[in-house]
Amino acid sequence: MFCYQCEQTPKGGCTKIGVCGKDENISSLQDTIIFALKGIAAYATHARQLGYSDSEVDAITHEALYTTLTNVNFNLQEHIALAMKVGGATVKIMDLLDKAHTARLGIPQPVVVPQNRVEGKCIVVTGHNLFALEELLKQTEGKGINVYTHSEMLPAHGYPQLKKYAHLKGNVGKAWYDQRTLFEQFPGAILATTNCIMPIKGTYSDRFFSYDVTGLEGVQKIEGNDFTPLIDKALSLYDADIESDQTLLTGFHHETVLGIAPEIIEAVKSGKIRRFFVIAGCDAPGKGGEYYRELALSVPKDCVILTTSCGKFRFNDIDFGTIDGTGIPRFIDLGQCNNSGSAVKIAVALAEAFGCSVNDLPLSIVLSWFEQKAVAILLGLFSLGVKNIYIGPKAPEWLAPGVVDVLVNTFGLKLTGNAQEDLKAMLG
Ligand code: SF4
Repeated sequence: MFCYQCEQTPKGGCTKIGVCGKDENISSLQDTIIFALKGIAAYATHARQLGYSDSEVDAITHEALYTTLTNVNFNLQEHIALAMKVGGATVKIMDLLDKAHTARLGIPQPVVVPQNRVEGKCIVVTGHNLFALEELLKQTEGKGINVYTHSEMLPAHGYPQLKKYAHLKGNVGKAWYDQRTLFEQFPGAILATTNCIMPIKGTYSDRFFSYDVTGLEGVQKIEGNDFTPLIDKALSLYDADIESDQTLLTGFHHETVLGIAPEIIEAVKSGKIRRFFVIAGCDAPGKGGEYYRELALSVPKDCVILTTSCGKFRFNDIDFGTIDGTGIPRFIDLGQCNNSGSAVKIAVALAEAFGCSVNDLPLSIVLSWFEQKAVAILLGLFSLGVKNIYIGPKAPEWLAPGVVDVLVNTFGLKLTGNAQEDLKAMLG
């Protein structure tokens, strides 16, 4: 086999025939685009399940994938433009999914959720699929089973049409990667609805059920939205009795936040609010994520933290209280990763109110990336012209130096470093 691009015989492990060697920047951009498309595909699938689709997003997805075929396009600028187009599609599909969720489940309202307290016959639901959770709540109603959320399911508690089920009791655990320990100890049945599940190491596979695209060896799949096997399993297990007085705050939506926009604007004008921090993104195992906790803990008391995604589990156990002299919460959890569009909507509304651009607002955005949805969201922010974003805890390894240069020079992208020094720079 001969590669027409690098003019060599690909060595073992080369999977990029035609886009390697001389064109590492294009190869890197194509990887970025493909990762982002996976995120878009996830959001589009959830939206379609709820009866919503967008032909423009579909067309961009097809065009972008087509462009990554071997030997189609060797133009760097056209790849950058395509990445921005994919970013635009991300913004659109997040917006559509939000519409699909709120049309069916109502506008989320802030709620304090019991954390780690588990009682009776129980099921824990992990992943992002609110449709699956709603179906399960319907089918478990009146059966004496308590339902608990895990990780990205936490924001479900804010939706009126989910909250109305009294047996949706609380949340257990933190970000996705605590599953093996958590599920081993969880006394009930387990439902995985989307990505960010972990292959099982332990003895809980007979209590574990997969849904939709999720799948694990030796685990039973829920077919046709019939949760009977999961329900039967939960009923066959012992009653749980795990005490905890911990709580978590979630359930903000951009409409709720914009409902108090006059109070927020007044607080900014009077100096009660100095700055907004979006600290959001995908969490990953390891010490790198401690940066986000240190940053959130160090943010001055006259600043507001907005968050989404599972990265918030690094710091959402902290009671941040309210801005002095106001009722404005200092910690605003806007929901899952797909709710990142809500942070943008709030920023755009504030910019309009102050007659400036989003980049001129007293706003710092600090993201943690881990998987494909985070890449889609980052491109989405770039497509909206948002600059000076910090990303961490380390540089995405697939980004070639030339692409990093473009992102740094065009968008002022920064890598996170020392939390205190970064905070000083942001406040400065
Ligand atoms: S925020 Fe990212 S890492 Fe976390 S569960 Fe969602 S997709 Fe996975």
